[in-house]
Amino acid sequence: MNPTASTPPPALSVECTECAASITLERQPLCGEIVRCRECRAELEVTSVSPLRVELAPEVEEDWGE
Ligand SMILES: [Zn+2]
Repeated sequence: MNPTASTPPPALSVECTECAASITLERQPLCGEIVRCRECRAELEVTSVSPLRVELAPEVEEDWGE
């Protein structure tokens, strides 16, 4: 038998650095992309895609100073 049933795409998930919740991504993120945790609303920046790794994104202020 050669089952051709659609296999689900590989799950892309990463652990939130703030609350340890599992964040599931719908597609391969890009390095530097911001993802938001659904649990704690933290904004996480993708710092590495292989392996998938995120860090808490710095708060971006509108005021750039200069
Ligand atoms: Zn979180």
